[in-house]
Amino acid sequence: MIHFVGAGPGAPDLITLRGAELLKAADVVIYAGSLVNPALLGLCRSQCVIYNSAEMTLEQVIAVMCESEKDGKMTVRLHTGDPSVYGAIREQIDALREAGIRFDVTPGVSSFLGAAAAIPAEYTLPGVSQTVILTRMAGRTPVPERENITSLAKHGCTMVIFLSAGRLEELQQALLAGAYTEETPAALVYKATWPQERIVYAPLGQLASAGAAHGISRTALVLVGDFLGDAYERSKLYDPSFSTGYREAER
Ligand code: SAH
Repeated sequence: MIHFVGAGPGAPDLITLRGAELLKAADVVIYAGSLVNPALLGLCRSQCVIYNSAEMTLEQVIAVMCESEKDGKMTVRLHTGDPSVYGAIREQIDALREAGIRFDVTPGVSSFLGAAAAIPAEYTLPGVSQTVILTRMAGRTPVPERENITSLAKHGCTMVIFLSAGRLEELQQALLAGAYTEETPAALVYKATWPQERIVYAPLGQLASAGAAHGISRTALVLVGDFLGDAYERSKLYDPSFSTGYREAER
């Protein structure tokens, strides 16, 4: 059986209990070496055979999985954060289905959640934004044109931008062409939850220069939106004058 497992954003104790148990029991582990914290591999048994998928093609990954399955072994495919976010798991799942190999998925703490905790921030701040857009810039790999940053930025909601810290100048311009202004708060979160974690705050008009000044060009998320500012409304859920299914309003 193949287990896709979310490794979490970096800190080794942010993997789920289920994910950790699977790693401890694995005969074979294929981990995304570019981003998964290698400290997690310390959970594996000494006999466990470990592959770094950063050096492999999809075909090679599937071949390792098929071989392992043929030998009756258990394989963990370890993805950074949560496998459903830029994890390229669909193509693996389809190949496994075709090969008749059983699999399941254990979720992980995505880096966008690690980044919110690092700040700490509430993405869905009442009176400010109730929507989070997770996206990335088009780069060497494309993004559908209808999802270009400027069109998404027209909502002015909370945005978390993956895989784009190397193109901050372009990103800044694209965001400014939407609903944000030069003063809209933004942050770069580098290696959230790792010991090297760094947070750089800048108004959107200075995002690219702040990134350059701090030498951040990869393994970072860009957060943008007024959720990083000071103004918001308090929640109705905990407002004494508001009744909920669990509590009557105070008079
Ligand atoms: N599946 C992962 C995302 C993989 S795409 C997840 O759920 O987080 C890789 C991108 O994720 C990086 O380029 C960076 O933008 C972001 N990323 C991954 N780990 C990060 C971390 N600890 N801190 C900040 N950004 C991170």
